[in-house]
Amino acid sequence: MSNGRRVLVTGGAGFLGSHLSERLLDRGHDVLCLDNFFSSSRHNVAHLLTNPRMELMRHDVTFPLFVEVDEIFNLACPASPVHYQFDPTQTTKTSVIGAINMLGLAKRLRVKILQASTSEVYGDPNVHPQPEEYWGNVNPIGMRSCYDEGKRCAETLFFDYRRQHNMPIKVVRIFNTYGPRMHPHDGRVVSNFIVQALKDENITIYGDGSQTRSFCYVDDLVEAMLRMMDTPGDVTGPINIGNPNEFTIRELAEIVIELTGTKGEIHFEPLPSDDPRQRQPDIAKAKEVLGWEPKTQLRDGLAKTIAYFDKLLSENAMPTLASSRLR
Ligand code: NAD
Ligand code: UDP
Ligand code: UDP
Repeated sequence: MSNGRRVLVTGGAGFLGSHLSERLLDRGHDVLCLDNFFSSSRHNVAHLLTNPRMELMRHDVTFPLFVEVDEIFNLACPASPVHYQFDPTQTTKTSVIGAINMLGLAKRLRVKILQASTSEVYGDPNVHPQPEEYWGNVNPIGMRSCYDEGKRCAETLFFDYRRQHNMPIKVVRIFNTYGPRMHPHDGRVVSNFIVQALKDENITIYGDGSQTRSFCYVDDLVEAMLRMMDTPGDVTGPINIGNPNEFTIRELAEIVIELTGTKGEIHFEPLPSDDPRQRQPDIAKAKEVLGWEPKTQLRDGLAKTIAYFDKLLSENAMPTLASSRLR
């Protein structure tokens, strides 16, 4: 028998969800890990399945869910541009209908629910770094809108359920996070550069590489999510979580080249539309409210991520996705 809580993690087989599920099990909780494997595979949680406190359930959050749990982390949603733009209407449905269903579940059970929101709610920001008070600069009809606006609408729903039903909600805005178990084909910059470098292929920089991102290592991020869930009922967020150390994409490429010793060379490709120019979290609130700040330096986190992808490649164990059209 377990003394922990029963925790639902939607999107639990994904990159962040698998790390979160692992940490929750380590803390003695029961985990109901729910996923439709749209942008992940069972591979990410295979090592947790022998734990009797872990349950893996195939389910799509756009359909109602009737289970009994003590708290909910809502992470279900493809997060990389390649994946969320593959079926954009489904992406919006996942964010919006998924939020409604998970909020309905939390309301019936009267339990805490945490939403994994995103720095994309700030769009291509005119304010730098981005504090939570900034309302953002988002194109409502562009290629990224299904994700950005879907996530913005999910935040609206969370705060309306709070106002209408006094629900214990928590919203975190996650900035670019990387680490082991990112999907090697999800097109995000860290996984792309590392896989390309390890295969001695060209390192593809989109645009001139002067755009910036601030990269947070997954262990730091998960710690912040756990702390947020444990805050008192009056703490709702939104709270930015991410690493404020900002790098240009070109700098990132150069560090990956140095750390891997690749023979691959930098190759410039066109910049996708609406690609934000710069992004850096203001984490003053996270420091104050959660007593949290990231500890992992980019080079250290990249070294661990490189070791993960190196092992995948050497074992020829690249995970496949549920949809063969996504590779
Ligand atoms: P991911 O793609 O690895 O994980 C998302 C998971 O959700 C996948 O396992 C996917 O199969 C699942 N999923 C998608 N649609 C679903 C549906 N309809 N029903 C059930 N499951 C579904 O991405 P991630 O990086 O782990 O992101 C997790 C969450 O964190 C997402 O909500 C994402 O928007 C948010 N986030 C991540 C980052 C980041 O840098 N990693 C940044 C900002 C926000
Ligand atoms: N819902 C769910 N599980 C539950 C309770 C509700 O999936 O245990 C879904 C339900 O399908 C509903 C949605 O959550 O469409 C919103 O529920 P809510 O009670 O807020 O609204 P209503 O049912 O009145 O539309
Ligand atoms: N990017 C790049 N090469 C790649 C993949 C991405 O230069 O192979 C760029 C991309 O255009 C963006 C940045 O890296 O400016 C971060 O992209 P990612 O998809 O990881 O995240 P997001 O744009 O959602 O922050």
